[in-house]
Amino acid sequence: MISLNEAIDLVLTEVRPPGQERLPLLEALGRVTAAEVVSPAAVPSFDNSAMDGFAVRGTDLTDAAREGLAITAEIPAGRPAGEPLQPGSAARIMTGAPLPEGADTVVQVEHTEERDGRVFVRKAPAVGRNVRYAAEDVRRGDTVLPRGALLGPAEIGLLTSIGVEELAVARRPRVAIIATGSELVPPGLPLGPGQIHNSNSFTAWGQVLAAGAEPVLLGIAPDDPAETRRMISRALDEDVVITSGGVSVGDYDFVKQVEDELGVERRFWGVATKPGKPLAFGVREGRLVFGVPGNPVAAMVSFELYIRPALLALQGRRDIWRPWLTAVADEPVKATRDRVEVRRCLLARDTADGWRFTTTGPQGSGILRSMVLADGLVVVPAHHPGGPAGEPHLVVLLEGSRGERPPYPA
Ligand code: AMP
Ligand code: MG
Repeated sequence: MISLNEAIDLVLTEVRPPGQERLPLLEALGRVTAAEVVSPAAVPSFDNSAMDGFAVRGTDLTDAAREGLAITAEIPAGRPAGEPLQPGSAARIMTGAPLPEGADTVVQVEHTEERDGRVFVRKAPAVGRNVRYAAEDVRRGDTVLPRGALLGPAEIGLLTSIGVEELAVARRPRVAIIATGSELVPPGLPLGPGQIHNSNSFTAWGQVLAAGAEPVLLGIAPDDPAETRRMISRALDEDVVITSGGVSVGDYDFVKQVEDELGVERRFWGVATKPGKPLAFGVREGRLVFGVPGNPVAAMVSFELYIRPALLALQGRRDIWRPWLTAVADEPVKATRDRVEVRRCLLARDTADGWRFTTTGPQGSGILRSMVLADGLVVVPAHHPGGPAGEPHLVVLLEGSRGERPPYPA
């Protein structure tokens, strides 16, 4: 058996740079930039007003309270600024409208009074106030996004504002998903004696999609070498293969044997974690082939620990890790044996600004509700003697992405 950290490293060394494609901006949500994005334009592209009010020359402000300024123009948003502003005058201006030449300051309308076509300034702003200057958000030539950035709603907005209509993004890795087990029945069909519904294919489907990759559901392989071989052979057309079940030491566990026959080069089998011990990983012609254990929690936890970082790295993401924190146990922590234990937990904010955790009830590797309830995974080192409530532990969250790898125990 190898360690959790060794297993992660062995997986990540096999990740090759992603392919790319060009997509229209509106199809790029959730994708990852394949090249840095340099702005072809400044934002804003012109000086404009940050307020509804009057555009003035700062030098006129001293006399503007007593004498007032002649209102000589009106500039709504979306129109050209018109004539340059003459000394001693003011242009009525709306938020977002371009500043006329000569003006350098905007007096907000609430601080003015109008009489006989003149505006009297009741409260003068400092010279230069209430103006949004050209290029104050983005300068032409600025790198607005690095390579490997996830395109979320804010990024899509930023790209729209600089006039980008299409861009190069990483291709989504295609991930074949196979459930193995003669006891498995697809959802929607009634269960016979000894049968269970195949849930692993669908947790994997969700995890793959959430990682920005494209799941390819290939269905159920019964515990039969020929049938398992036919399905894995088909799965090897895709970038990544995930099988669940059939990688343990049972008489009907055919996955490893079949993969050997198909030329999958084994990188490891067996990781010192609980759950997730019989995880198998190999490669064939650049494709990553994962055999996760059949128990539903073991399958999901294995995905979180090894497959998700690999799928993000396959898209060129830099922030491939889950955020992590140190939380204090709200309950006694059970001892571990020779494996790192990954328990599911709920987090609550401590009064003293830290975090506390409780485990999500029974932690059996088949108890999927422990995942449903969980905010994160508590990672307890091997040979931990157990301890009272109040001790700090590593908790890896089940949402979000960061660039810093969690400090998993050695
Ligand atoms: P295995 O790793 O094949 O020995 O399976 C371990 C346990 O996980 C057994 O109780 C299986 O019935 C269960 N299991 C295997 N595959 C699935 C699946 N796709 N969905 C739900 N449970 C499964
Ligand atoms: Mg099985």
